[in-house]
Amino acid sequence: MDLLNTLVDKGLRRELPTREEALAVLATSDDELLDVVAAAGKVRRQWFGRRVKLNYLVNLKSGLCPEDCSYCSQRLGSKAGILKYTWLKPDEATKAAAAGVAGGAKRVCLVASGRGPTDRDVDRVSQTIEAIKEQHEDVEVCACLGLLSEGQADRLRSAGADAYNHNLNTSEGTYGEITTTHTYADRVDTVQQAQSAGLSACSGLIAGMGETDADLVDVVFSLRGLDPDSVPVNFLIPIEGTPLAKEWHLTPQRCLRILAMVRFVCPDVEVRLAGGREVHLRSMQPLALNLANSIFLGDYLTTEGQSGQSDLDMIADAGFEVEGADTTTLPGHRATTGGGCGSHDGGCSPCGETPEAAQDSSEAPAVGPEPAGAEPARTEPVRTDLVTVRRRGAGTDIAPNA
Ligand code: SF4
Repeated sequence: MDLLNTLVDKGLRRELPTREEALAVLATSDDELLDVVAAAGKVRRQWFGRRVKLNYLVNLKSGLCPEDCSYCSQRLGSKAGILKYTWLKPDEATKAAAAGVAGGAKRVCLVASGRGPTDRDVDRVSQTIEAIKEQHEDVEVCACLGLLSEGQADRLRSAGADAYNHNLNTSEGTYGEITTTHTYADRVDTVQQAQSAGLSACSGLIAGMGETDADLVDVVFSLRGLDPDSVPVNFLIPIEGTPLAKEWHLTPQRCLRILAMVRFVCPDVEVRLAGGREVHLRSMQPLALNLANSIFLGDYLTTEGQSGQSDLDMIADAGFEVEGADTTTLPGHRATTGGGCGSHDGGCSPCGETPEAAQDSSEAPAVGPEPAGAEPARTEPVRTDLVTVRRRGAGTDIAPNA
């Protein structure tokens, strides 16, 4: 396929595909799917070899959020039967993190529900970061605490945080349909604050919320414009008790196409296979390792994942290897410049494209035939049997599954 040859060439040169090319990846047929995976796999191997980075989630504070993100089981008014607890103490959080590190995690992600942290919250998370770093010198710590106020990113950085996560989640055009209590611009601002403080930015998306192919391409192009170092790709877990509980749109094949598209648009970025992989990729999970170079180990924030041992077995069986603590995840051109797409010499702004510019380009009309699946399908299998609310690990007396 000319399309795939072009995309591989561009990916190996870290060159941005066109919107039409990204849309065309999402529109490929099932007959073409293995070719798509193989092509994106070449780009993945060029920048990350066969390494898989393991990340471990610690939910520091669960539920009771005043925000109304429709996909989230911790949202205002959620009827989901999730664990609800307030801030873990630093020693409890450190103990939870240690389980992930023992399981092979290279990064610990400290996550708290809520609109954003108070300064007191930043203090307590800082204590947790320091305690984790004291016990595990080499582990990377990422904080995910919501919208940041001025100076908070600097304080987290000073406490030893390596990274900050804040996802864009969906396109700017559809953001208001998903959340009303904060804006897409608020999210962009927090990612930029993290970057300004010298934190490695992690920002990604959630697929499967009823968005069109154009929405997916919009958010991924906006992410490329923001230039985070890692891009988590979540597949919506439609949890009973949330407004999106009936939104089952994803097939394993569609998930693979989405991951391939993200890899082509963000070739040298850590693409992380995140929430929903067990539910939507199911037996196709190992194939996705050809596209993503990073996964979460074990459970998610409010739902259970497959066991950490199953994750490790899957990686080995598929011919990949767990990335060691002494290996730098990002390719040299990114790791040494602290960001930037690497396409330009010197201290250019990321990708030479501002998020606003990326958004502008995303508003250009797509050319060519409207891709199949442009509107979300409504007939995918409902697999509520694969969704299990987390009852172990952080916030419980039961051992985690890492
Ligand atoms: S702000 Fe975070 S925890 Fe709160 S509803 Fe939104 S995604 Fe969930």
